Amino acid sequence: MSKDWKTRTTLVHEGSRRSQYGEMAEAIFLTQGFVYPTAESAEARFLKTEGDEFIYARYGNPTTRMFEERIAALEGTEDAFATASGMAAVNGALTSMLRAGDHVVSARALFGSCLYILEEILTRYGVQVTFVEGADLDQWRAAMRPGVTKAVFFESMSNPTLELVDIKSVSEIAHAAGALVVVDNVFSTPIFSRAVDLGADVIVYSTTKHIDGQGRALGGVICGTTEFIRKTVEPYMKHTGGSMSPFTSWIMLNGMATLDLRCRAMADSALKVAQALEGDARLGRVIYPGLTSHPQHDLAMAQMGSGGTMIAFEVKGGKEAAFRAINALEIIKISNNLGDAKSIATHPATTTHQRLPEAQKAALGITPGLIRLSVGLEDADDLIADLRRGLDLA
Ligand SMILES: *Cc1c(COP(=O)(O)O)cnc(C)c1O
Repeated sequence: MSKDWKTRTTLVHEGSRRSQYGEMAEAIFLTQGFVYPTAESAEARFLKTEGDEFIYARYGNPTTRMFEERIAALEGTEDAFATASGMAAVNGALTSMLRAGDHVVSARALFGSCLYILEEILTRYGVQVTFVEGADLDQWRAAMRPGVTKAVFFESMSNPTLELVDIKSVSEIAHAAGALVVVDNVFSTPIFSRAVDLGADVIVYSTTKHIDGQGRALGGVICGTTEFIRKTVEPYMKHTGGSMSPFTSWIMLNGMATLDLRCRAMADSALKVAQALEGDARLGRVIYPGLTSHPQHDLAMAQMGSGGTMIAFEVKGGKEAAFRAINALEIIKISNNLGDAKSIATHPATTTHQRLPEAQKAALGITPGLIRLSVGLEDADDLIADLRRGLDLA
């Protein structure tokens, strides 16, 4: 297929395969395995001498392969491996490449389960982990141990306080020390952040978020070079069982067709909502990288060309006021997903980040009044009215 397609064409057509029936919509190959015409053919497939043929759904499936080819083309990586969830992708990318004695440098502000993998799981198997402030390049430089540091890991935009990591600069620092750069790009979305062009080696997503975009299924994906995906990731994933199901792959394929349109519409609304909230006397900080008041606004524009689809803001009056505000919302739902068509309000301190000790919450800016808002596809004016109603009652 043509490789010079623009993004929206890639998102609709790339990776499509048709069976002998010529179906228009991508087929769901809801099968655990495949029938071999002969014993010789079975042998050849296991020896991998028989081209791009399938063996068993844990190893690969035509519907999943369509999704992997589509997202690899979007990311600009050679290949991709789809996983059962975002966490299977983060774990698969890191655990498949690391061994006892290796060192990892990671940003401190991470999604709770990512933090658990780095702090609790990798260290159990003899991998050393150093945490740094993601926005402080000097800390990244100081933490590198050339030859021993095998990977750096960070979320390109942190949850929930929307702090960016400078992908280009951190990649240069990591590569100088011989480390691979693994980026969890969920908050930046595949539309706004082409991490690979900025130097990242491996990009992971929870496809549960913007890629599905309609809150239907858990999924994840690891994008990288053919060498890394097929020699490092695939053996680990296929033997440990974290592959994406064919049905989920079909959902993700269809989600991708509208991904660019949805992310741009959501980001346009997010800017309007953030502008409407900024300066409201009932609020403390309004954090949105698309506002010039965001300390990394210039980096956000250079790295993403957008402020993205997420906002965080602090209601004066702490937890009680924040609870009153989100309880009064009528359109925006209280939940913890993001990137969904439906706008979602989350109170990180008592839900997604509840597990963290108070001191760590404070250090990460997760205050009792902080609300995280995932802006959906509703009309921005309706969302602003809903938030104002919530704040009136806070
Ligand atoms: C949601 C999320 C994950 C985990 O993804 P699941 O699909 O829930 O397993 C990982 N990283 C970030 C930044 C996320 O937002």
